[in-house]
Amino acid sequence: MFSIGIDVGSVAAKAVVFDGEKIAAKEIIPTGWSPRESGLQIFEKVIALADIKRKDIKAIVGTGYGRVALPFIDKKVTEITCHGKGAHFIDSDIRTVIDIGGQDSKVIRLDEKGSIVDFLMNDKCAAGTGRFLQVISHTLELDISQLSDIASNAVPQNINSMCTVFAESEVVSLMANGASKESIAAGLLQSVCKKTYSLISKVGVKNKVFFSGGVSKNPLLKEMLAERLGTDIISSELSQFLGALGAAVIGYEG
Ligand code: ADP
Repeated sequence: MFSIGIDVGSVAAKAVVFDGEKIAAKEIIPTGWSPRESGLQIFEKVIALADIKRKDIKAIVGTGYGRVALPFIDKKVTEITCHGKGAHFIDSDIRTVIDIGGQDSKVIRLDEKGSIVDFLMNDKCAAGTGRFLQVISHTLELDISQLSDIASNAVPQNINSMCTVFAESEVVSLMANGASKESIAAGLLQSVCKKTYSLISKVGVKNKVFFSGGVSKNPLLKEMLAERLGTDIISSELSQFLGALGAAVIGYEG
């Protein structure tokens, strides 16, 4: 039997098929304008990928902000619980999860059983999230995936505004004054690092630390955070799937 975890986020819908021991298939698509449509689409895609029939599925668990829009799921579970479960499944020594997604960031502390000890979430403001990076990358005429490479050897510009809209104006002024894209990109990552660090400081950090969410695909930001925290940070190709993975594990456990 299989369980399915579906995480419909603000930017991307992720799904994982779990066979009780390992991941049988995973898929990611843009959420687009309709969380319901993308949830249905990713469900169809992932069961086709895993080559399973509906009768083989014991439970479908939904998470992410779009979970309320999914009529076909058996259970809805919060992102915090799913991230905790997913992290514990990947490595039971993980005690801190730093998640930066499309429109929120969160820090979760876990105990040795993978239960949530404490967490803090910033979902009030886009600064320090993937949305912030997307908006400013667009202003710099860069793809978000280029940010890390371009910034890697540059001296960062100070970007002081903690608000996405004001930060964008600040970047436009920096460009007008001749600052290089490289230095602005480095400053942008520094600013996300600073914002995330202040969230982490409120919850505290304990090893091992796992970096999840789409923004964890930026290696320079991971390095900056590790340096600021004075500790190693791990991430994996499952980082963006952590919520969906946790949902699938919860579905299997019943
Ligand atoms: P959500 O669950 O809110 O949809 P995700 O965790 O799926 O968010 O992450 C989506 C975000 O990941 C997007 O906002 C995008 O900006 C960011 N992202 C994707 N690729 C990269 C990358 N290479 N570097 C930094 N951020 C990235």
